[in-house]
Amino acid sequence: SMADELLRVSGLDAGYGKVQALWGAGLTVRPRETVVLLGPNGAGKTTLIKTIMGLLPSWGGTIGFEDHDVSRERTDKRVRRGIAYMSETACFPDLSVDDNLHIGGQFLPPAELKQHIAGLYRRFPILEEKRRALGSSLSGGQRKILGVAKALAGQPKLLVMDEPSAGLSPVFVKEVIQVLRQFRDLGLALLIAEQNVKFLDLADRVYTLEGGRIGFEGTVEEMHADAALERAYFGLK
Ligand code: ATP
Repeated sequence: SMADELLRVSGLDAGYGKVQALWGAGLTVRPRETVVLLGPNGAGKTTLIKTIMGLLPSWGGTIGFEDHDVSRERTDKRVRRGIAYMSETACFPDLSVDDNLHIGGQFLPPAELKQHIAGLYRRFPILEEKRRALGSSLSGGQRKILGVAKALAGQPKLLVMDEPSAGLSPVFVKEVIQVLRQFRDLGLALLIAEQNVKFLDLADRVYTLEGGRIGFEGTVEEMHADAALERAYFGLK
């Protein structure tokens, strides 16, 4: 039922101009659950994530969050409801670390935000050290940590991420996964669009997206048990 689900996407169509890029996509994320949306370049991951956030209009289908149909709501309304978004670039490079965090939590009462940002600085000392530095001056890995912290500044119920591994070397990918694991373990729900199978270490469930359509849905174990999926996604690891 709806009560068991935080996010429920069904029959979602979207695209660019006359070109359809997403065909009847459906997925759910339950409270505290980590869902990985796996697919190759051009599969439609960014399109699906942006449509969920309202950054692209849906052509058809529905997007439900908790008990609300948010399909026609503006992005900021969706964010206020508790859906945080991290883009491939993660943070605003032209703004300071501190300003990034304030933007992430701009919908909270100022006193609450201040306290919450202080908590994020305690958790991520590197961000406190660099609070006055521009996002662009951070390393690739630090930018992603800032992106996660920025998203968390608004105290979301669900964090939706578009390719957190983008532009990162393997050692930083590991670091980002460790940070996400901490918040998952604290009860935050995650929806992660990725082509890097390393993120499956975090996944309670997986969807594959190919040619704008959801293919497989199941656990990582079930994915490994499927010879075609095993070949397609793990064959050349
Ligand atoms: P990537 O890993 O490269 O980000 P993706 O899975 O996120 O890939 P999308 O960016 O959602 O894929 O692209 C899905 C399809 O939509 C592709 O065929 C792409 O060429 C097309 N597309 C994406 N953005 C646009 C755009 N602005 N205008 C026209 N077509 C687009």
